[in-house]
Amino acid sequence: MEQAFLLRLPKGDDLLDSLTRVFRERGIKSAHFTVIGALKRATLAYYDDVQRRYVSRDFDGLREIAACMGNVSEKDGDTFVHAHMILSGEDFGCVGGHLTSGSEIFAAELMAVPVPGPVGTRKFDEATGLYLWA
Ligand code: ZN
Repeated sequence: MEQAFLLRLPKGDDLLDSLTRVFRERGIKSAHFTVIGALKRATLAYYDDVQRRYVSRDFDGLREIAACMGNVSEKDGDTFVHAHMILSGEDFGCVGGHLTSGSEIFAAELMAVPVPGPVGTRKFDEATGLYLWA
């Protein structure tokens, strides 16, 4: 089992893609992580439980990653990253939501902690319409 590690993610990368690549390349399928830093632009989502789909919104301009936390598990045999973020802008107002593709890294510091034991596997959950841990 790999130890906890700190890593700077590349400027210009998509945050979700970058996180997924880090864990996939290291063969880590079970972990907890946090990220702090800043994004050049962001896309956040929330789950509409009536429509049973994610609704996303773009936020342009530099924002601090005030908090980003997530986990790594397995979906369809592949590494799956799930993360939520709170971002703060120049007016110090915050927005938050589910991390989706479309968030461009300005600077990002990842702190990851691999979790020993059985790997969580995501399966479709009829009650919510989400892929949750089985
Ligand atoms: Zn989520």
